[in-house]
Amino acid sequence: MKVEVLRIGQRVVRDDRVTTHVALVARAFGASKIYMNEVDPEIENTIKRMNKTWGGDFEVEFFEDWKKVLKSKIDDYKIVHLTMYGEKIDDVASDIRKNQNILIVVGAEKVPRTIYEKSDFNVSVANQPHSEISALAIVLDRLYKGKQFDMRFDNHARKIIPTKKGKKVVTK
Ligand code: SAM
Repeated sequence: MKVEVLRIGQRVVRDDRVTTHVALVARAFGASKIYMNEVDPEIENTIKRMNKTWGGDFEVEFFEDWKKVLKSKIDDYKIVHLTMYGEKIDDVASDIRKNQNILIVVGAEKVPRTIYEKSDFNVSVANQPHSEISALAIVLDRLYKGKQFDMRFDNHARKIIPTKKGKKVVTK
């Protein structure tokens, strides 16, 4: 299963930190790429540094127009839009999982109506407002059933050895 993330709607509120955290969750929880715009280009360097230190090849791509990204994916991907108004994740996760390519769309402020219409799944994580960071984490966890935490991050410079106390990190 290949999962990518499209983060839309940054214009009104400059929330680079939230967008960075969306990208970090996407990377750590099994997605392979994030599309974003109108953010500090430094985010790309932050992610590159993460890959270099902790491994993996998670990608960041900046777009001019999210409609073009959506259009380029719509034939080969199932579009999963995260919204508090959607169907419950636990009711649709098994149907979503049947698909090879998945594009998860997360918003920042109000999401245009067309996203709801063009999406194959409008999915909620609790029908209550909260955050795109938490919604993305839960949805990726439900889709991968926790297996994402066994994912390998190849070509790392440093690797954490889980320990009961303290910090154990091996350097290549
Ligand atoms: N009021 C906004 C709206 O109408 O879309 C909500 C903005 S919320 C701060 C930002 C994003 O978080 C949403 O676009 C959605 O992707 C995600 N989100 C927030 N609560 C959610 C929930 N309960 N389930 C799924 N996604 C959620």
